[in-house]
Amino acid sequence: MQFDLEIKYPSEPLKCWAKGKELRDKYYQDYASAHDSGGIRWSGGAAGLESVMAGFGRDVYPLTGEPYGASIAFDRPFAAKCQAAAEEAGYPRDVCAYMRNYWGSKLLNSFAFGGAFPEPDLYWQFHSCCSHGKWYQEAARIEGKGRPVFVTDCAIGPYFKFNEKTGNYYAAPNENGIRYVVNQLHSHIEKIEKYLGRPYQDELLFEAADNQFANMTIWPEIFMLNKAIPAPLDQKSMFSLYVLGALNKASADFRAFYNELKDEVQDRVNRGIAAVPTERARVMDDIQPPWGFLKIFRHLENYGCVCIGSYYSASLMFAWDITEDGMLVPKKTPKQRGIEIKDRDTCLWHLADFLLSNLWFNNMQDNGLKAWGMKKMYEQWHCDGIMIHYNRGCEGLSMGVAEQRLYLAEHGIPVMSFEGNMGDAREFDEAETIKRIDTFMETLGLK
Ligand code: SF4
Repeated sequence: MQFDLEIKYPSEPLKCWAKGKELRDKYYQDYASAHDSGGIRWSGGAAGLESVMAGFGRDVYPLTGEPYGASIAFDRPFAAKCQAAAEEAGYPRDVCAYMRNYWGSKLLNSFAFGGAFPEPDLYWQFHSCCSHGKWYQEAARIEGKGRPVFVTDCAIGPYFKFNEKTGNYYAAPNENGIRYVVNQLHSHIEKIEKYLGRPYQDELLFEAADNQFANMTIWPEIFMLNKAIPAPLDQKSMFSLYVLGALNKASADFRAFYNELKDEVQDRVNRGIAAVPTERARVMDDIQPPWGFLKIFRHLENYGCVCIGSYYSASLMFAWDITEDGMLVPKKTPKQRGIEIKDRDTCLWHLADFLLSNLWFNNMQDNGLKAWGMKKMYEQWHCDGIMIHYNRGCEGLSMGVAEQRLYLAEHGIPVMSFEGNMGDAREFDEAETIKRIDTFMETLGLK
């Protein structure tokens, strides 16, 4: 279906698009080839603190599991092979789809970016959803080489609390909980030092932490620019850009790229450059998309509808704060708050604070925050409706999804839902979802 829509705004491709793709490819190549020059490879979750591992040297390279699982999902024939391998090995279909893709790739000894699976020297993970720790424990078991698995328990309760009087959430950090996480980080550093036989370098930690704080706030600053009408970015493009934060938040190259991107997006806003030149309506979505079917976001454009992003692409690996009057804003880095970091403990404290304040991390502690946060995004980003994905592939971020849909509907927000799976194409019905989108567009008056 395509309407004869008025071109209301100028549009042009992003100038730094190719550079973003290049950086992503280099990340996987660097990881795969790390051993050629005596470097270290480690693997763990994307919701983590890569800057801590950076203290072990400039030749230490991560492979974060979730974006790797999503890359596999994007390649549907390879994903099907990985899922078959995981099921043959006895893993059930109802556990995390990214984790199954990762395990399958390991079982097949086939790396999504070419060659054999480059095994890490160690695993380092943060545990918040029920799959996080098990993911790498099982990955190490599949290898059978006794590689160590370090898991930091992050179940310390919610970082944000709800104020009944104002109807808003507010930051209420649990200092004992942050200390519990920091103590685990100290202990892991000591153990990994012994395992690798390398001394830990605090100067490298401070440098990488500075990049991590910056990367976790520059993307939210870019996302804020998408409040503009017309929106300078659309969701499908944002998926290729936000991912750098999920690969390695401690990267100086990614920081330079995000700064360049921010300047370019600001320029697009100043010149009124639209992602969708026919923009006449705006929607947002909530969670991971079905990665093999991103064309559903292009389908919206047939109606002159832009998807301005999601609660997921805004916040997955990034740091947001809530103002006194209940607005979502980028969190300030320690430097922006005038804090100078001179010792390991202070550095780890602020890193843990950043991680534990992550909005998605909090979905496993209080999933009411996501419902409230989506309503705020809907209002602040001038949306006309919200698409909700009942994503069977992720038990962590899907927690409370039905209640969240109800909350939004009860607040008068037009909501559509569709069922699917971020990483397993067998659980997504493309034709049915397109039909649902068509109906939703009609209810928004887009005919
Ligand atoms: S939060 Fe979702 S994607 Fe991440 S490990 Fe848990 S189930 Fe998998």
